[in-house]
Amino acid sequence: MVKTIEKNNKKYFQCEICGFVYKTKELAQKCEVWCEKYKSCNVEITKYAVSLE
Ligand SMILES: [Zn+2]
Repeated sequence: MVKTIEKNNKKYFQCEICGFVYKTKELAQKCEVWCEKYKSCNVEITKYAVSLE
């Protein structure tokens, strides 16, 4: 399940498996599907991850 995070009045979406955070739900969902299936991260997806510090 993609987790929604609110910070500074903006919404972010987190892959619950690897913990990477994305600006769109689509990306977070893609990440989660990948993580679940391959038990690893796909750099083509994680390059879009954002840092919430
Ligand atoms: Zn992930």
